[in-house]
Amino acid sequence: MANLMKVPLLDLSIKDPALKEELLAAVARVLDHGRLIMGPEHDEFESQVAAYCGTRHCVGVGSGSAALYMALRALDIGPGDEVVTTPMTWVATTNAIALCGATPVIADIDDGFNIDPGRLETVITKNTKAILPVHFTGHMCDIANIMEITDRRGIPVIEDAAQSFGAEFNARKAGSFGKIGCFSMNPMKVFRGYGEAGAIVTDDAKIAERVRSLRYNGTINKENCREPSINGRLDTIQATMLLVSLSRVDTLIEKRRSIADEYTRQLSDTVGCPVEKPGYLHSYYSYTIVSEYRDALKQHLADNGVETKIQHPFLVTQHDAYRGRIKGNIPNAERLVKQILSIPSHENLEQGELDYVAEQIRNFQLG
Ligand SMILES: *Cc1c(COP(=O)(O)O)cnc(C)c1O
Repeated sequence: MANLMKVPLLDLSIKDPALKEELLAAVARVLDHGRLIMGPEHDEFESQVAAYCGTRHCVGVGSGSAALYMALRALDIGPGDEVVTTPMTWVATTNAIALCGATPVIADIDDGFNIDPGRLETVITKNTKAILPVHFTGHMCDIANIMEITDRRGIPVIEDAAQSFGAEFNARKAGSFGKIGCFSMNPMKVFRGYGEAGAIVTDDAKIAERVRSLRYNGTINKENCREPSINGRLDTIQATMLLVSLSRVDTLIEKRRSIADEYTRQLSDTVGCPVEKPGYLHSYYSYTIVSEYRDALKQHLADNGVETKIQHPFLVTQHDAYRGRIKGNIPNAERLVKQILSIPSHENLEQGELDYVAEQIRNFQLG
């Protein structure tokens, strides 16, 4: 036990003094001009995110949850409508559908944790008004097949790209394939703010305008309310810090990708490791392994100082709010939810820590 190490899952403290200085200077500029909501840095954030994603428009919003809710509202999704999504996601995805008064419908996932296009086809009905796939863990879903299936039927796609900013398929960014892409920039995400933040991207000017209204209580010119909505705005201090994050996000993704490669090299004989499919670029929001003995492995790692997390322990059908209310034949999701485990893979992880984590995982299998 002499060489027990402590490896946290995530470390959000800022290690780089140059980064800290840049953030503080950015915040100071906002405090000086005083336009705290939707100031100039906020507009700059929107144009830079749109440029990064290759879309015509970006609308900054208060969170990923707000982005999803307003995206559905912008497509007039409401009572009587069905929206097809995945059972394996953060519950915000399903909540957005329910809050619109629509009915969430689920299709089973593939071994990459994403909605299986073959299963998707089987649950589409005449009431299906949108498809809401999630790019889980930072690897995009099979978006080409999903677009093919939905284009044929004229059903719009909203991408929940909350975990996948910067991920790609065929050199195109996550969020830019569907009618609307939704992002979260909360501090857990790879492209992170320093508090709650989100955005939607779209090529459709009308949708962008509608979301700009929806994010401020459904008002026009901040005065006349044309439809009930929430306050879902992004503040200028977040936006200015996000501009700093954006300038470094590709470097962070590169770092995470090399950590992932190294884990896969050391662990692929021992546990199920993430697989980057040809044509895809995985941004590694999480490095999620699969083990039949997940709970014992998690305990073994905890005993040896390694913090891990089940992301997420509940399928959408298993939350109290939705139990018995969402039907679906989802054997793959029901199996995988008992086997997934996210291990430390943040960009500040040092080689020695990585080697230690990998060694503990290999030891468990041998023991
Ligand atoms: C984080 C996340 C959200 C919600 O984003 P918030 O900014 O936390 O509201 C939605 N969907 C998925 C898949 C997420 O990971």
